[in-house]
Amino acid sequence: MLRPQAVPLAAGVPPGAAPHAHPTLRQHAAVFLVYLVSGWLGIRYGTIAGTSLSMLWLPSGISLAACVRYGVGIWPALWLGSFATNTPFLLGGPAEASVARAVLVGMGTATINTTVQALYAHALYRRFIADGNIQSARNIVNFLFKVALAPSAANMLLLTLLFGLAGYVDLGNVPLALSVCIAGAMADYHGYFVAGLFGITWMSQATRPSWRPRWRTVALPLSAVLVLLVAVTVFWHRAAIHLVTMLGVLAALYSGLRAATGFVLCASLALTIATAQHVGPFALSDDVGSLIALLMFVIGLGVPVYLLAAHRYELMRSKQELEDKVAERTSELRAANQRLEVLSNSDGLTGLANRRHFDTVLEREWRRAARDGASLAIGMVDVDWFKRYNDHHGHAAGDACLRAVAQLLAAQLARAGDLVARYGGEEFVFVLPGTTAEEALALAHRIGAALRHEALPHGDSPLGIVSASIGVAACVPDIRQDATALVQAADAAMYRAKEQGRDQAVPALPSAVPSAGTPVLAA
Ligand code: GH3
Ligand code: MG
Ligand code: MG
Repeated sequence: MLRPQAVPLAAGVPPGAAPHAHPTLRQHAAVFLVYLVSGWLGIRYGTIAGTSLSMLWLPSGISLAACVRYGVGIWPALWLGSFATNTPFLLGGPAEASVARAVLVGMGTATINTTVQALYAHALYRRFIADGNIQSARNIVNFLFKVALAPSAANMLLLTLLFGLAGYVDLGNVPLALSVCIAGAMADYHGYFVAGLFGITWMSQATRPSWRPRWRTVALPLSAVLVLLVAVTVFWHRAAIHLVTMLGVLAALYSGLRAATGFVLCASLALTIATAQHVGPFALSDDVGSLIALLMFVIGLGVPVYLLAAHRYELMRSKQELEDKVAERTSELRAANQRLEVLSNSDGLTGLANRRHFDTVLEREWRRAARDGASLAIGMVDVDWFKRYNDHHGHAAGDACLRAVAQLLAAQLARAGDLVARYGGEEFVFVLPGTTAEEALALAHRIGAALRHEALPHGDSPLGIVSASIGVAACVPDIRQDATALVQAADAAMYRAKEQGRDQAVPALPSAVPSAGTPVLAA
């Protein structure tokens, strides 16, 4: 089961940008130390015995990762690191080489390493790693071809020239000079390939792995196996790590780029150390051939493992984006549906419930009251002389009047469960659950009184103000009967109110109230 929510989509710090404009002294010291140790590792354990051919130059990748993490302001640590790593090595150069010359060449080497291996590579990184997040197949391919290649070649070209001018390499011996240059460039590229990606991945927030719980429990033993295999290579001169390459594929598949780069770095270190000691599958009789075979294997192992991890992350990310989008659309749709429901249930002019909604509520309350044996009351309200109102005041004033009456009704019938609706034209209806006819009639009287109190002017009514005739009916519903009978009873009562002179509330006749139900009202 994938757990996409555990994958941070946006890094707190964009990996391509420098979070600190000025790296601190501690950061300088840490980078310097790592540079020194990794350079020493390359020289002490990565150089083929009996030659000066180093197969793995980790500082190239470490310099780039440091620039990506701390910004180009980290260059003094890199310069010093390179100087301190290379100068002792240069001191053991040609017999006639003085200490001063070694120091000068060491300074030159440090300057080339800093500007080309670190700053130039970092500029390419910023240029080609889109959005600064290494965790995509496209960015990894860009890293391998557009970021790491050119600095590896340029650095060794310049260094070979410098060494040649200083007398460390015989430039007249072109095959030798070329092999120094090419082998050095391969070692640099090897460093970018394993340490660069490892450093960038581990120092970036965006690549935090999303462990499956059961993989977390096996991660420790797996790491222990890797360390053991590296130790076997170093201390017992037996190369065995290529036997567990499946582990790298699994790490990439199930945990992400950090585990993938960690595995490739371990494999590269163990195999480099083994080859340097002439053991393992890549220890050929030809030293440069050994380096080529080793590098081919590390790249052949690393590329699929890196791409697999990046692809998995991209898949999870697009899955999460899709889920987010679906969730967003669903909530939009839900809100639109709610708005639509409100619209389809309300009357456009008055904002009260409409006839449709009234029918639904009446049906529901009828059944509920039948179940509970409770009384249900209905009131029918018809504005008096409204045709005349329109004729006298105009249709727009008629609309405003209907709105005012609606507001008044809503204010009078505000108890929870009560419903007032526009029944049609200038007729309104109300439903009062749990209300007896006497209570409903009292309420209808109150509505009439409120209208008289409001005293909306009516220029063509005998009363001079807007009034209404109201009919009420109530019963304890019988589930076998239809609610329309109760509505008809209230309607008939309303017409009797009209006949009796309007501006009054009248109860339904017992005979008009649904007969199988219990008539609650006796007129
Ligand atoms: P009565 O006292 O007998 O009820 O007389 P009345 O004029 O109120 O009754 P009648 O049914 O003859 O006329 C109702 C009028 O209500 C006719 C119609 O123009 C008006 N009316 C219905 N709906 C609207 C509306 O939405 N806006 C306006 N302004 N008038 C409406
Ligand atoms: Mg009417
Ligand atoms: Mg009317």
